[in-house]
Amino acid sequence: MSQESYSEGDLRNTGMSLKHDREWDYELDRIVDAVEERDADKVGLQFPEGLKRRGPRVADDLREILPDDVTVVISGQPCYGACDLDTYLMRRTDVFVHFGHSPMKESDKIIYVPLFSNVEVLPSVDRAIDEELAGDDVGLVTTAQHMNRFEEMREHLEDAGYTVHTRKGDDRLTHEGQVLGCNYASADIDADQILYVGGGKFHPLGLAMEHPDKKVVIADPVNNVLTVADTEKFMKQRYGAVHRAMDAEKFGVIFCTKIGQGRWDQAEEIVDNNDDAYLITMDEVTPDRLRNFDMDAFVNTGCPRITTDDGPQFHKPMLTPQEYRIAIGEEPLDALEFDTFHGTW
Ligand code: SF4
Repeated sequence: MSQESYSEGDLRNTGMSLKHDREWDYELDRIVDAVEERDADKVGLQFPEGLKRRGPRVADDLREILPDDVTVVISGQPCYGACDLDTYLMRRTDVFVHFGHSPMKESDKIIYVPLFSNVEVLPSVDRAIDEELAGDDVGLVTTAQHMNRFEEMREHLEDAGYTVHTRKGDDRLTHEGQVLGCNYASADIDADQILYVGGGKFHPLGLAMEHPDKKVVIADPVNNVLTVADTEKFMKQRYGAVHRAMDAEKFGVIFCTKIGQGRWDQAEEIVDNNDDAYLITMDEVTPDRLRNFDMDAFVNTGCPRITTDDGPQFHKPMLTPQEYRIAIGEEPLDALEFDTFHGTW
């Protein structure tokens, strides 16, 4: 699953080698201060999937500098975003540290350590300027990993003569110009082209679908790849899923119990209006977990990326709430939009 997981340095599909060494600041001093302040005896650590293998080393470093009687616990739950806090571990520890994502909602109990990338972004921005950007106006967005370089990128574009348009999205986003795999509100700006600086092909695809009137230029500074988002193949995949669900009678409607992925109203509305729809609650939504349900199609009200990125892996069509409405004839096919998620909890 891609979602918000760390993709940096994941070169499996690129045939390229790493251009930069990765180094992150785990902000151990901040954690030690919090332990002292709260006289904590249990510390919970949560890493995104791509950084889990570093967990034991971070725990070792912490154990060395923390008092002997402090227990360090690493979350083994899957984690793809700040929407996905291990609430079980959080309740059972005095200090809970979430690595790799910017806060979706602040809380005294949680320390968010963003782990900004140390990758140079300006060479990618220069390539975008040389090869794809035109005109005088450009929108600028990036993911949490490169947020520490946002001002640098803005100034660089301004120095190149562009008027740079940015905005802060809704309260699911921490920073101006930040996008999530489920939220592109920061790209609602007055420019015909948007420069997306970051990795992963799904983030900018969602962005391009949300803003079909804009050219979305993708500059990936980690893998040094420059492309323009093309939604056609992606749209075909979605139309395919909707078509296959048009004959469905029994729908499994998934309500995700992860703290920042629940859209109860949308799930409830579907089952209230369809006697052949069944509400299914679960945290991690995977093909294996749904295989034994005798349904003709599923509707996912949790993380939109599960539907769009992993949809083809499920044994039955997996739809977004809007795609469900299209499949049952409540909305026309050409109304299809990217499923976005707003607000927190
Ligand atoms: S719900 Fe949004 S923030 Fe959470 S994992 Fe999915 S795309 Fe990322």
